[in-house]
Amino acid sequence: MATLECLKLALEQKAKGRASSPKQPLSDKQRSAGFNILEQGTEWRTYQDSMISQLSQLLAPLFTSRVRISALEIGPGQKSVLGHLPGDLRCKIRRYSALEPNGLFATELEKWLCPTSKAKSPLPSLENPPDIHRIPFVPQDNKERCTSTGTWDNDEKYDIILFCHSTYGMNLKRRFIERALEMLVERPRGGMVVILGQDEALHLDGLVCHRTASLPSEAVRLVDDDGVLDCFAAYVTGFTMQNGDVDKAVRADWREVCRALGRREEAHQGHLLFSLPNVMATFTQDASTLPELMELVPWVKEDKTIKNWEARLHRPALVIRPTEVRHVQQCVQWALKHGVGLAVIGGGHTGHCLWPNVVSIDMAAFDQISILTAGEAGTEFGSDSGPLVVAGAGCKTGDIVRRTMAAGLTVPLGARPSVGAGLWLQGGIGHLARLHGLACDAILGAVVVSVDSSQVLYVGCVPSQYRPVGAVRPESEADLLWAMKGAGTNFGIVVSVTFRAYTAPSYCIRNRIIPLSDRLDALRSLDDFDKTVAEKAHRNHSSDAYLYWDSGQLQLGVTEVRSSTAGAPNVNSEQEVDFKTVNGVGLFETEMYVSRMHGGHGGGKTSSFKRCLFLKRIGDASVGGRLVAAIEQRPTPLCYVHLQQGGGAVGDVAADGTAFGCRDWDYACVITGVWGRDQDGTDAARRAVQWVYDVAAELLALSSGAYGADLGPDPRDAGLAAKAFGPNGARLARLKRRVDPGHVLAYACPLPAPSTAQRLIVLVTGDSGAGKDYCAQFWASEFVAFRTTLTARVVSISDATKQEYAAATGADLGRLLENRAYKEQHRPALTAFFEEQVRLRPQLPEEHFLNVVHGAADVDVLLVTGMRDGAPVAAFSHLVPDSRLLEVHVYASQQKRRIRRGRHGGDGHGDDNGDSNNGLSSLVTLDHRPSLLFNNDTSGDKEPKHFAARFLLPFFDDKLQRLANMARPIPDFPHPGIEFRHVLGIAQQPGGLALCTSLLQQSFIRRWANIDAVVGCEAGGFVYASALASVVNVPLVLVREAGKLPPPTVSVLKSPSHISSLASNNSKEKRIEMEQDVLPRGASVVVVDDVLSTGETLCAVLQLLEAAIGPATINIMVVAEFPVHRGRELLRRHGFGNIDIQSLLVFGGA
Ligand SMILES: Cc1cc2nc3c(=O)[nH]c(=O)nc-3n(C[C@H](O)[C@H](O)[C@H](O)COP(=O)(O)OP(=O)(O)OC[C@H]3O[C@@H](n4cnc5c(N)ncnc54)[C@H](O)[C@@H]3O)c2cc1C
Repeated sequence: MATLECLKLALEQKAKGRASSPKQPLSDKQRSAGFNILEQGTEWRTYQDSMISQLSQLLAPLFTSRVRISALEIGPGQKSVLGHLPGDLRCKIRRYSALEPNGLFATELEKWLCPTSKAKSPLPSLENPPDIHRIPFVPQDNKERCTSTGTWDNDEKYDIILFCHSTYGMNLKRRFIERALEMLVERPRGGMVVILGQDEALHLDGLVCHRTASLPSEAVRLVDDDGVLDCFAAYVTGFTMQNGDVDKAVRADWREVCRALGRREEAHQGHLLFSLPNVMATFTQDASTLPELMELVPWVKEDKTIKNWEARLHRPALVIRPTEVRHVQQCVQWALKHGVGLAVIGGGHTGHCLWPNVVSIDMAAFDQISILTAGEAGTEFGSDSGPLVVAGAGCKTGDIVRRTMAAGLTVPLGARPSVGAGLWLQGGIGHLARLHGLACDAILGAVVVSVDSSQVLYVGCVPSQYRPVGAVRPESEADLLWAMKGAGTNFGIVVSVTFRAYTAPSYCIRNRIIPLSDRLDALRSLDDFDKTVAEKAHRNHSSDAYLYWDSGQLQLGVTEVRSSTAGAPNVNSEQEVDFKTVNGVGLFETEMYVSRMHGGHGGGKTSSFKRCLFLKRIGDASVGGRLVAAIEQRPTPLCYVHLQQGGGAVGDVAADGTAFGCRDWDYACVITGVWGRDQDGTDAARRAVQWVYDVAAELLALSSGAYGADLGPDPRDAGLAAKAFGPNGARLARLKRRVDPGHVLAYACPLPAPSTAQRLIVLVTGDSGAGKDYCAQFWASEFVAFRTTLTARVVSISDATKQEYAAATGADLGRLLENRAYKEQHRPALTAFFEEQVRLRPQLPEEHFLNVVHGAADVDVLLVTGMRDGAPVAAFSHLVPDSRLLEVHVYASQQKRRIRRGRHGGDGHGDDNGDSNNGLSSLVTLDHRPSLLFNNDTSGDKEPKHFAARFLLPFFDDKLQRLANMARPIPDFPHPGIEFRHVLGIAQQPGGLALCTSLLQQSFIRRWANIDAVVGCEAGGFVYASALASVVNVPLVLVREAGKLPPPTVSVLKSPSHISSLASNNSKEKRIEMEQDVLPRGASVVVVDDVLSTGETLCAVLQLLEAAIGPATINIMVVAEFPVHRGRELLRRHGFGNIDIQSLLVFGGA
């Protein structure tokens, strides 16, 4: 379908041919009429919803980092685009300007933004009325222009400038964007220019975009009527002709053009269809930093001949061609510095290796292949490592097969020789998959440039001679190696991989073509193929089926391949005479697609588009019927469906054993749209692509997963991407956030959206027999039931000690883990063993803690049992500063515990991870205050369920996330390297103070009626304490710096807080004080402060309260805690370990 951009070019071309008359700009009325046709002729709502969702994602970081946003929209039409953003974003827009040359639109826009009725403005926080000017955007630097609404100061600065979709008639050029970039606020940097347009409109040579996003391909439908076409064509070009006769002739020409380019569909008779803007791109002040990169690394002027047609349509900002790893690192450093994404070119077979206005790294120079016989890899990897192949990321499948074959070896790869690293990093299905598994299963190690630090990393087996100088093993090695096997393109720029090699087989191959008389025949043949050819096949046999149309009928092509490493495979029987014996290279040429289908596609000259999903029984009428229908409805003659056989070794690996994830399938169903290469970018190509998506969408519900290797940012891929990676989506999303936090690899296969929830680590402690294990398991299931996107796991921290104890003493590990009586028998010795280990290695508890935390890095909620350490939250929270760490202490009566210990099954609340306090309730002996206490005396699930709902699940309340978003991060304040969280700034955000107060009120566990006072400490505490005191109707007590309250007062010394010690050189101690008789002795108080970091302020407040009112019941509530400063530990050291401390938010920053 022709795009509006195409249409515009064609219309302008026609008008040029009749240049005898000057052009006349459109009147407001003409523009409005054209825009109305555009709006009415589209599924505008669907398009807009999707566009707004993408725009919100692109703008969210900018909005989060600022308290107020100023925005300029260029050509918004009758309604502001930004006025459709979600409420919390809209509320931040404090200044709004628009340039809308169409007077009618401008009036409508003004009405929409400033409704006279009671309706609320879509931009409710504007400080001044919207500033709408009836003029076009002109890139010249003319400071002031007079407009009908006064003057427009062209020197004004904005956080966002948005070129809207009704800018047809404006030829977006580089100078437009550059001028807009000059109009972004200079400090803080990070403002954005956003463009909505067609791919073609984004040919802005020399500029790098910050991000691009694809929009759904939506069509505008025009009634095929002279009047409508006249009006719309003028709207698209933005002019008519002054001379009446010429205008008449041009209009007639334009109608012809519209009718020639517009697509006609049966479902929309009497209409012409054109496609709408499909790309959204953002640019920042870093848009013109390409020269900086070009000075550092080798780059190519001409795009390399990329295989993929779609990629060839994208015009990248630059293609760099590194020859050394250092160049890749420099490119990553540049991308990180300027906040832009990168694409990578492997074999160039997908549309994602080149992206408009994005820098691509072509890995072609890394094309070395090394073969190491068993033993050459070095002893580090064991003597049974077998032969290895180290392949650079610029190699192609054919290169590897050819080179290894010469050494009598092979690697299981795919069926086409020109496919590159994208194949083995994302799966890799070929004829050896049933025997040896997927290509990614053969990956043993990799060298990767980190897109977080730009360091060169190596993971798994990388023989020393193939490790670049300075390469290091990362902390996250196990995760990274796991991710390389199926999702490798998302986690770094891969320089090389080490493959396990296998003995090269020879292959017997036979291609058969079975003409199918009708649908029934087709279904029967598919069923036969499934049952007789594929189902019974040995692992070294693989059979593929092809459904396609040729010679006026449906055809079933069958390729049978048998591999053998002991000479030619045995094919003696009479029916098997037409088998041909070939080697690995010959196999490429004997493929059905290349050698037979449609007379053989060996000559090339076609382009294709593929999506692949995994199917079980293709003989089932529901599956087979859809496959046959797909071919019957093919939009171009060459479209086909390829069914690659799976099973065998593919299913030997557990679904979560590698990132690949989808293991349970019989066929990889590759739906392939094909057209002549000379039709690239035409309607035929678009229809073939849409056909692929339509068939994939139909089959998705019947599939057992989708193949990620071809998927990208197109919204039509989202449904498929959601089914790629099997159960591994959440782990991959979490890892992506850790390994690619700047989203540098933004154009690789989309991973599921990461859970925005903060990680929760719950240490479940308590008496032996109190039911800790049971409760931990139960609560884990409650989290998952509460929100299906959450993942939860229970681990026992004491298992490591049990393992070491069993190894040292010869005790039976299995029984220690599983058998309560056996464990009880060993308990005293086990405890003594642990204590001795800690004596020798004092850091052991921390090591054990970090091991369990890192071992479960993929889950949102980790419940840890078997803790032996006192005050674990104070002791360990600084080790996991980005997570919220809680201790839930489970207790029960002595009688109940005895029963539970005696009856293993009992009421189901039995416990394995006990402690050794000999029956005395640990509540009596506890020397610290756990975060939460759970009385587990009652049998059944009611109480643990109620406890979870009241105290645990609220940590995943969206309101907490909203509050966290309001504490905006400010980098390098008050010193470089410090990321300041503006916690007090929450009160300055619309609704911030009310939200924070209500969360403080709700999360207090005890009854407010029993509280004598809310104590607030100058200065941050005053804000939140006074708001809370007023809501819960409890008196407020103020703690101030000495000398500011009337006597008599009580005062104590206070060391400077973390931030004031950083902010000033005045790090001297000060005194704080409160009025002497403002509280009765022994009162019950809640101390409220904005932040808990080093704990110095709160420690002084507690000392002051001690001095003023003696022993009292004190609770502390803070808005945000920064565990890295170990404030809890300081309070504990000063004797306040028994005080309950709650924090609404936990931040990892300094
Ligand atoms: C004609 C054809 C035949 C195919 N046959 C098979 C087959 O038999 N079996 C099979 O399993 N699949 C097959 N595929 C699918 C193929 O595996 C995917 O299209 C694959 O992504 C292509 O990889 P590439 O390197 O050639 O493409 P590219 O477009 O260059 O790369 C694909 C993706 O990988 C990323 N990438 C590439 N190199 C690196 C790197 N070094 N570091 C990080 N990211 C990188 C790119 O950025 C891109 O996102 C086939 C595809 C085509 C077009």
